[in-house]
Amino acid sequence: MIRLSAITPSGQVQLGNYLGAIRRWAAEGTAEDVYFISDLHAMTSAHNPARLRALTREQLAVLVAAGVAPESVCVQSDLVRELGALTWLLECTCSYGEAARMIQFKEKSEGRASVRLSLLTYPVLMSADILLQGTHEVPVGEDQLQHVELARVLARRFNGTYGEVFVVPRAVVAPTAARVRDLAEPSRKMAKSAPDAAGTVFLLDPPDLVRRKIMRAVTDDRGEVRYDPDGQPGVTNLLEILSACTGKEARELAGSLSDYASLKEATAEAVVAELKPVRERTLALLADPTELDRIRAAGAERARDRSTHRLESALRVSGL
Ligand code: ADP
Repeated sequence: MIRLSAITPSGQVQLGNYLGAIRRWAAEGTAEDVYFISDLHAMTSAHNPARLRALTREQLAVLVAAGVAPESVCVQSDLVRELGALTWLLECTCSYGEAARMIQFKEKSEGRASVRLSLLTYPVLMSADILLQGTHEVPVGEDQLQHVELARVLARRFNGTYGEVFVVPRAVVAPTAARVRDLAEPSRKMAKSAPDAAGTVFLLDPPDLVRRKIMRAVTDDRGEVRYDPDGQPGVTNLLEILSACTGKEARELAGSLSDYASLKEATAEAVVAELKPVRERTLALLADPTELDRIRAAGAERARDRSTHRLESALRVSGL
């Protein structure tokens, strides 16, 4: 059983990526799975080449440092030739209307004078990511369901038109893992590329900076520590983060903390303790480029070995 998930190097890994995704990949993933750094997807809007390369390396190091099975980790662009070829076959299987109705495309392109064509076609590349590896399950949030549905449609259509080549993947909506919100703007989720980093805890932030960001988190003027996502989103976010780091139930934690200062202190210490070993191992890996290159090359080779025959079949049955 192959599961596939990705993280996009559009910014530094933040606490939400770690608590909501990477930690689970480390705990539940197997060597059969594929966890990849989707650097090709990071190019769908303006990007800086040197920064993209650095972020890709950093994310690879974070995944391995967090305990994700190194056999399951790879970088998307290490298969750029295979993925480019398969994306073309799948674009020739997909209609313009199917791509244009993607909600994410509508949202991300709205009001912008010019968008890269790849913003429209990246769900087809995502289908290629999934289908090339023979993926069975794609764990996703609700916002990605439509893209996995496209991969299913394209796999069935290709198999039906040319011959059985692809596994038809299944989307699995992950049970609500920790949803971490921005500390400065709790109405939106914490994200790598937030306009203002004050509300984002990055995994590689030094402990003092993590503490400062959490101590400055926006709360409210009610003065009572209660679990109330709608009425007290800032306080509830801190409780959720504390809960994700300690394994204790958020509502119980609310009852045990009397004021916002103690909530923030407890959360800051729990986050610092949770991130410390991953941060240290990441920095050690980044300081050992030979080891990181070895892990990367091994991951690329495994991903290629697993997929070459499928790409060859797809090229052959479609007449190439
Ligand atoms: P980002 O929104 O930071 O750019 P990605 O789109 O690269 O993140 O997502 C990588 C993984 O991290 C996905 O599985 C996504 O669901 C998870 N993730 C991203 N932000 C959060 C968050 N604030 N809380 C929980 N999980 C998150």
